[in-house]
Amino acid sequence: MANEPSPSTPEGPVTIFGPDFPFAFDDWISHPSGLGSIPAEHHGQEVAVIGAGISGLVAAYELMKLGVRPVVYEAAQIGGRLRSQPFVGAEGVVAELGGMRFPISSTSFYHYVDKLGLQTQPFPNPLTEAAGSTVVDLEGETYYGRSLTDLPPLFTDVANAWAQALEEARFTDVQNAIRARDVTTLKALWNDLVPRWDDRTFYDFVASSQAFAKLSFRHLEVFGQVGFGTGGWDSDFPNSMLEIFRVVMTNCDTDQRLVVGGAEQVPRGLWRCPAPKPAHWPAGTSLASLHHGAPRPGVARIARDADGKIAVTDAWGTTRQYAAVLVTCQSWLLTTQIQCQESLFDRKLWTALDRTRYMQSSKTFVLVDRPFWKDRDPRTGRDVMSMTLTDRLTRGTYLFDNGPGQPGVICLTYSWMSDALKMLPEPVERRVQLALGALRKIYPGVDIASHIIGDPITVSWEADRHFLGAFKGALPGHYRYNQRMYAHFMQDGLPPEQRGIFIAGDDVSWTPAWVEGAVQTSLNAVWGIMHHLGGRTHPANPGPGDAWPDIAPLELPD
Ligand SMILES: Cc1cc2nc3c(=O)[nH]c(=O)nc-3n(C[C@H](O)[C@H](O)[C@H](O)COP(=O)(O)OP(=O)(O)OC[C@H]3O[C@@H](n4cnc5c(N)ncnc54)[C@H](O)[C@@H]3O)c2cc1C
Repeated sequence: MANEPSPSTPEGPVTIFGPDFPFAFDDWISHPSGLGSIPAEHHGQEVAVIGAGISGLVAAYELMKLGVRPVVYEAAQIGGRLRSQPFVGAEGVVAELGGMRFPISSTSFYHYVDKLGLQTQPFPNPLTEAAGSTVVDLEGETYYGRSLTDLPPLFTDVANAWAQALEEARFTDVQNAIRARDVTTLKALWNDLVPRWDDRTFYDFVASSQAFAKLSFRHLEVFGQVGFGTGGWDSDFPNSMLEIFRVVMTNCDTDQRLVVGGAEQVPRGLWRCPAPKPAHWPAGTSLASLHHGAPRPGVARIARDADGKIAVTDAWGTTRQYAAVLVTCQSWLLTTQIQCQESLFDRKLWTALDRTRYMQSSKTFVLVDRPFWKDRDPRTGRDVMSMTLTDRLTRGTYLFDNGPGQPGVICLTYSWMSDALKMLPEPVERRVQLALGALRKIYPGVDIASHIIGDPITVSWEADRHFLGAFKGALPGHYRYNQRMYAHFMQDGLPPEQRGIFIAGDDVSWTPAWVEGAVQTSLNAVWGIMHHLGGRTHPANPGPGDAWPDIAPLELPD
């Protein structure tokens, strides 16, 4: 393989185009012909959408444009895991509890960001210009830098080893195929990696790579603790390597931006935004106007009715019947929060839904009087505090300057897995104290507490019964489960009792923990529901289901 010529010359940018299902979702949703049409007899017909996160609201918005009446159910609050919690008393200043940094390769997500006219700016990731300065604190040693080259050579060696290790999986060739949207080459390269890496971990890949084999254990350890791009990669070490390949090959870990004022504005904007020229509905119709302002309550039960329709019962006992239902909440909730009739899904799909594995994540934020971290230490000439990566329990500390005259925000700690579990039983005040205690050891001269104003904000997604975890993190051997879930929107081959219920969202996606995957699965579901209701795409703008026979994700034998 290594001696084969490089495929296609690079052309466009790297986007989240495949690699499992290389369909151009961004082109589909921006095409002037629209997504398709649904027969007039179904116009105004109700379709249930369970969950008002980004995947539910993208689907509801697009279905409304197609002329059906989405009925959105939400158990908690609009936005789901794009939750921007305002600090009391500080207007417009938020803590990003879920998604906060969005790679520019997320072109379908940005389609909606742009449609809503939202502003974005570079996210202050480690060693980026937006962060200003970065401190890496490992085993009690503290390193300060503005870019990678300011750090000791060990860090450059680690970065180079990672780049070389990725080439062992033909990283550049895959990225070139993505840039060129060369589906044939991309599928050939990717489908070669799937069976070889599905059952092997990220740690296995790094430790067994030729590039890291030449280096010390310390290099591997530093790679895990610092990573490059977003930091803290050792939390992902037990995950299937395929998941990491997807992240790096589609540039999820680079060129990330934040949404000014909070990412929650995206789902909230879709909720309020009038659909331009919708089929069937009068001008000015929005999801909010179709719902009298608020979604319906959380769902308690889903079952097939005697007449073949799907009955959805909400938390207050009201049941409504639908020709189609889209479920976008985490799939575990179908066995914990929602009584879901077993015959609605094939047993093999149930296995996939239940075996899906979530990662834990915790964040704790404080509001501070001003971005004091930019003050210069007269002794060293450095910023008094920096974006910080550490092996202590805080793991990642992020600093947000909200502009002149505005209070600053510090994400004292953003952690995953075991580090998130350390915080799980603690109340917010103790979490702040634990984080301040760790940071004091890195910045002994800085009195962070003296700058805190307002009340701190914290989250542990695994402690919330409406989520049970932050996002999917596929384990080795999970490719088949992912394939079953992802492929479920193609329903022509299903027995009638399993048709009409669709799934979408982060845990159906190939790129969990990245919002683009949730959006793309939601668009698959829109195609599935349109097809289920007898509709079709415009010939000039085929959709994901039309392309499926040619580019479907690889199926591994059971
Ligand atoms: C800590 C964290 C950090 C992240 N960081 C990033 C990032 O930096 N960049 C990025 O691109 N992505 C990031 N993500 C991923 C991104 O936030 C998700 O992929 C995306 O928001 C998931 O959207 P969704 O619609 O699939 O699910 P959700 O947002 O979970 O929406 C599902 C909705 O269903 C609701 N629900 C649950 N039970 C019921 C019920 N019984 N009835 C009705 N409704 C119900 C829930 O309340 C929820 O609102 C992050 C996620 C987390 C948690």
